[in-house]
Amino acid sequence: MASSKDYYEILGVDKQADDATIRKAFHKKARDLHPDINKEPDAEERFKEVNEAYEVLSDPKKREFYDRYGSVDGYGQGPSIDDIFGGGFDMGDLFSSFFGGAASGGGSRAVRLDGRDMGASIKITLQQAATGCSKEIAYNRLAPCHSCNGSGCAEGGSQVSCSTCHGTGQVVTTQRSFLGQMQVRSVCPDCNGTGVTIDNPCTECQGQGRTPDRERVSVKIPAGFRDGQQLRVEGYGEAGVRGARSGDLIVTVIIEEDERFQRSGDDLHVRAEVSIAQAALGATLEIEGIMPDEVVEVTIPAGSQFDDEVRVQNMGMPHLRRDGRGDLIVHIDVVVPQKLNEHQRKLLEELAESMNEQVNARRTPWQRLRERLS
Ligand SMILES: [Zn+2]
Ligand SMILES: [Zn+2]
Repeated sequence: MASSKDYYEILGVDKQADDATIRKAFHKKARDLHPDINKEPDAEERFKEVNEAYEVLSDPKKREFYDRYGSVDGYGQGPSIDDIFGGGFDMGDLFSSFFGGAASGGGSRAVRLDGRDMGASIKITLQQAATGCSKEIAYNRLAPCHSCNGSGCAEGGSQVSCSTCHGTGQVVTTQRSFLGQMQVRSVCPDCNGTGVTIDNPCTECQGQGRTPDRERVSVKIPAGFRDGQQLRVEGYGEAGVRGARSGDLIVTVIIEEDERFQRSGDDLHVRAEVSIAQAALGATLEIEGIMPDEVVEVTIPAGSQFDDEVRVQNMGMPHLRRDGRGDLIVHIDVVVPQKLNEHQRKLLEELAESMNEQVNARRTPWQRLRERLS
């Protein structure tokens, strides 16, 4: 094929000529050069050229291609979208994955009817995590339609093959691009790619079988659950189209920080105050445990120092879904008395003396008075 003919010159029009001007110019040239009328030797050849020029310039796509590349060589032989993406590529897939619509399987006619999973989160206290608890979650979802029980059909309605896409779930449109014409498959807008419509759809859900709803679901959190762990509540995600499988609700459990206890795996850390006498002589303390009304006995050994740890076995968090508990680790805070009465001061002074320790035994009259009164 001749490649660099100037079709505008052949028709005698300029490059900005509109369709009407081109058509008029063609008609005139065609009349003048028609082999039945024009007996010049090159008339037939020129007549063919005029036809060729008109064929290109009267077709907006071809004209655009010609304007861009200076020839129509290769026009219409450009790769289709299928070729570019290795065949079987489905524009419907691409569009739907971008826009979250019903996705269709590559090449197949299957469409996504199942509902999607949804996410939610709930906060519980550390005590609730220790005992296990039930919590209600309220959230919005597409739920099965109450009116039609999810079928999408009103009384006496039934499912019929979609007339727009003839049951294929896809429509094919032709689009122009610099590559030439492209066949683009997309999800049928009338049946959302299902290939099926309802002759008498439920008015509540417009035949979808699902409607927006405020849902409440009770979630049981087992004892020993960890912060950030998830529970799957089957069937409580987005409802499927017309009774197809619902997605799941995935609940993330957030455990609030506790004022007293710090969790480390299934062990719990807690601080306990002991006096200098208790630290020196040893003592048995009773402290509140993590479980309701739980009292834990903690044995402080004689000679305990600040920040020493006492481990109480089996008094931490319960292990998740198995027997036993972690440990309770008690961190000792040795508390030095800030106020002493005279007798107490005397005892401490005696202690210091017997241990050969220098202390500030001299006091102002004002201090003495205060001690006597306290
Ligand atoms: Zn309905
Ligand atoms: Zn359809």
